[in-house]
Amino acid sequence: MSAPLFQRVAVLGLGLIGGSVAAAIRMQGLAGSVTAFDRSADELSKGLSLGLIDEAAESLEQAVSGADLVIIAVPVLAIGQMLPLIVEFISPAAIITDVGSVKAPVIAAARQYLPQSLSRVVPGHPIAGSEKHGVSAANGDLFQHHKVILTPVAETDGEAIEKLTVFWQTMGAEVVQMSPEHHDEVLAQTSHLPHLLAYALIDTLSQQGDSLEIFDYAAGGLRDFSRIAASDPMMWRDIYQANSGPVLTILDRYMQELLELRSMIALGRVDELAEVFGRAKGARDHFSKVLNERAERATPGDDR
Ligand code: NAP
Repeated sequence: MSAPLFQRVAVLGLGLIGGSVAAAIRMQGLAGSVTAFDRSADELSKGLSLGLIDEAAESLEQAVSGADLVIIAVPVLAIGQMLPLIVEFISPAAIITDVGSVKAPVIAAARQYLPQSLSRVVPGHPIAGSEKHGVSAANGDLFQHHKVILTPVAETDGEAIEKLTVFWQTMGAEVVQMSPEHHDEVLAQTSHLPHLLAYALIDTLSQQGDSLEIFDYAAGGLRDFSRIAASDPMMWRDIYQANSGPVLTILDRYMQELLELRSMIALGRVDELAEVFGRAKGARDHFSKVLNERAERATPGDDR
């Protein structure tokens, strides 16, 4: 049997994502052992009883000492706060990564607190998850057929990027690289704006008279909005704080468009309304086709 990719992995923050990474490591035999640290002793004992981790560390020092891979899976702003607490215990050869949904603040903190270890820092973000949180929702298949974005810095060495790429690929993910700035702009548009809309819509609707009726009749689109609005408020608070610039840029554009749609409805300019809908449908149809063709080229013979 070949040696695992890593000898000892430390997972800091054993929630949905940290727990799912631990589960996938276990399923794929990617590490000799997995040690986790979480501020909740309860999450750690659940991780042990679910068989996701080998050891529940009592401190950050105990978790990261001797680890050759450190994965930080706490909320975005807590990642930066954790770096100064672990810096003195990390082995010089250890690869340090994270799963945070915003990358610029993580990299700023790494530059501030880990200047000597930048060659081993490979920030990452799995584009997979759910509205659930906590280790009980962990799922070792979570990353299968999902993208993982790595945002290495100029100083990151190629061997660390390559090893982390193999790590995620073995879990079934497609690994792509981009700059942290581009990542934060793309995610503001594809994830952070939709979550904000979901929170706003459900908050608005739930304040209108009979909210039970609204949820009772929720189907299709609204069901998805209400699922998204069940996401963890503290995690999302951090994301809007950490990525305010790109979020405000796309939010302003969106609000402008909404105002235009509003005036088309108010003034009965329904043909213009249909034109906007047609343009949106055209874009959606075009890009679905392009992406389907790309997927078919990637898996020839697979016509599912
Ligand atoms: P989660 O289920 O709430 O897990 C986070 C865990 O970290 C919780 O057990 C939390 O404890 C713990 N924690 C928080 N601050 C800590 C600290 N300072 N020290 C030690 N432990 C701490 O959240 P998650 O969904 O796994 O998210 C983790 C990271 O993944 C976030 O950065 C998020 O942006 C990113 N992410 C999430 C998703 C998603 O869909 N959920 C997808 C991709 C990436 P408490 O419960 O006590 O706060």
